[in-house]
Amino acid sequence: MKIIKKIDLLRKDLSPLKLKGRTIGFVPTMGALHNGHLSLVKCAKKENDVVVVSIFVNPAQFSPHEDFKKYPRDLKKDAKALSGFCDFIFAPSVDELYPDGFSSFVEIKGLNDRLCGQSRKGHFRGVATVVTKLLNIVMPQRAYFGQKDAQQAVLIKKMTTDLNFPVKISVLPIIREPDGLAMSSRNVYLSAKERMDAVVLFQAIKSAERLAAQGMRDSGKIVKVLTDFISRKSSACIDYVEIVDPDELEPVKAIERKALLLLAVYIGRTRLIDNTVLRIK
Ligand code: AMP
Repeated sequence: MKIIKKIDLLRKDLSPLKLKGRTIGFVPTMGALHNGHLSLVKCAKKENDVVVVSIFVNPAQFSPHEDFKKYPRDLKKDAKALSGFCDFIFAPSVDELYPDGFSSFVEIKGLNDRLCGQSRKGHFRGVATVVTKLLNIVMPQRAYFGQKDAQQAVLIKKMTTDLNFPVKISVLPIIREPDGLAMSSRNVYLSAKERMDAVVLFQAIKSAERLAAQGMRDSGKIVKVLTDFISRKSSACIDYVEIVDPDELEPVKAIERKALLLLAVYIGRTRLIDNTVLRIK
């Protein structure tokens, strides 16, 4: 496994492999790797000859008041976790990806400003821009994303279709802690008490799944039950609880067959997200 920090060096190493017809699988990450990331990397390894993982904390997707500076970074530890599963770690500096004078951005109209985009202005523009750059640098046949970031996954699929990227996007299931909390690099911010409270997101989505399975179609009613339930935790502050169409992310009033439930909740000062597909039997 090689750690590469420069775009031209990565391209130089990948180009002969591509000429030999080797397939490339790519997993973009911000590092602080956990089993959620590793599930994507392992799948990439199974499906491709060569695996590239990028580790880049992308300043363009953080608002000024967010945690860009304190976001956990440990390249050595990440490299250890990836060894045996990955051929190249691409870990560029901010200057390498955004040199002086950088001024081109990618926006997905409509999807950018809803849900997480409402409270994280510019977030998805930053995500779409960096993923575009990384896909152009690596040029993989397949790229892997987690359902954990459901809005991001929809957005990347739309962007790569709209802009004719020659890549297959795979979206893989959410990996959870034993108590149900979705794994996230930000979970390390939680105090012991907040860590216990954080399971409220998983409990909420489980109760929504039950309500839908029992035939409750009214999104407003389900959202009200969940809002009341989450609000009982003193450390929890809801950013949004929404039920939307899984493809377009448009709000749905009544669940027809299936719909996507999305939650964003602050536990203390840490903003956590989770989601599930609700199915009416
Ligand atoms: P991040 O490092 O947070 O940017 O995440 C990199 C990729 O890993 C994204 O596609 C995420 O959706 C995915 N990911 C993060 N957490 C999980 C998880 N708990 N389960 C599955 N995929 C995840």
